[in-house]
Amino acid sequence: MSLPSPAEQLRHFQKRQKEIVETIRQLVELESPSDVKQSVDRVSTVLASRFGELGGKIKFHPSEKFGKHLQIDFQPRGNKAMPVLLLGHMDTVYPIGTISKMACKVSKGRVFGPGVLDMKAGVALAFHAIEAMLTWNDGKLPRPVRVLLVSDEEVGSGSSRPITEKLAREAASVLVLEPAYGANGALKTARKSVGEYTIQVTGVAAHSGLDFEKGQSAVIELAHQIIEISKLVDIKNGVTLNVGRASGGTRTNVVPATATASLDVRVASANHMGEIDRRLKALRPVNPHCSISISGKINRPPLERTEAVVALYKQAQEVARELGFDLQEAAVGGGSDGNFTAALGIPTLDGLGAVGEGAHAEHESVVIEELPRRAALLAGLITAV
Ligand SMILES: [Zn+2]
Repeated sequence: MSLPSPAEQLRHFQKRQKEIVETIRQLVELESPSDVKQSVDRVSTVLASRFGELGGKIKFHPSEKFGKHLQIDFQPRGNKAMPVLLLGHMDTVYPIGTISKMACKVSKGRVFGPGVLDMKAGVALAFHAIEAMLTWNDGKLPRPVRVLLVSDEEVGSGSSRPITEKLAREAASVLVLEPAYGANGALKTARKSVGEYTIQVTGVAAHSGLDFEKGQSAVIELAHQIIEISKLVDIKNGVTLNVGRASGGTRTNVVPATATASLDVRVASANHMGEIDRRLKALRPVNPHCSISISGKINRPPLERTEAVVALYKQAQEVARELGFDLQEAAVGGGSDGNFTAALGIPTLDGLGAVGEGAHAEHESVVIEELPRRAALLAGLITAV
């Protein structure tokens, strides 16, 4: 049996557009916030059974706090090539019950629903791409394929990171099923690193009328620190720090003894990563009667646009060209699990999921007519890399 031409492959997925949408709906309707273990477990079980029906070997990686991470292996007999790793996540940022206000629906050529773009559609695309490739190749894949779907990506991937890193080390390359960038479906060839820090200030409380001069205001100290922190912003070099939350004090007539702020840190290159961490931890109180403590860390290293990343992107462009469309690339501020694998030096390409808009927002949706193209792109890339 000879492999269908790219145009035939695309037609195959166009004919199955409805089934792809149905899989997406099935996944979206199973709500799966990162912090509700049994809900994510359910998605994991459902996906295990669907991938299992395709002949994938299922392995659950249990987690005490989070849903069981799901690994699926397709190992064509006798094929000793290194697997390509398809990397995704099953969890979403939406609490249970969101589906009743944000129902999964098809309208205006899109599928709407919580987590549909980020990234249940991406998981569905991987499933249908593998299913099609098995049909085209007499029930075998042209090369070993490994899928890893984790359950804690939206909360930093603390539990899944070691698994992701281990499987990435065993892979020839990593294709990340996160949504594409923008309306034209660009791939993500650079992502910033992401970190979160908290600064805690302790001063001395006093009655603001009776003992004002005995007080040492933690709020004023925090204000100084926030100004210092904002001086570290370096837009040109892709370094941003955002104090997204600040609070302190108890009531207006008390000099505040405590104040705290939390910040989000994003850095474009590994060089800046350590430096920002050092400079944050080196902050000292302006008022010697106050004390400060900084905790936190850079959670994800940056996904840098290395030669290996570019080479993978070029291959994707070639596959897209054969399918009859143009593929762009983009650098984005957000991080994904692709940041971990790229930092290990494993060729990583991100943004291979669906095209749509509104990730983490009320209008989250994916464009239906793009789905066949994305599935064909994924299938083509799995074969090419
Ligand atoms: Zn995501």
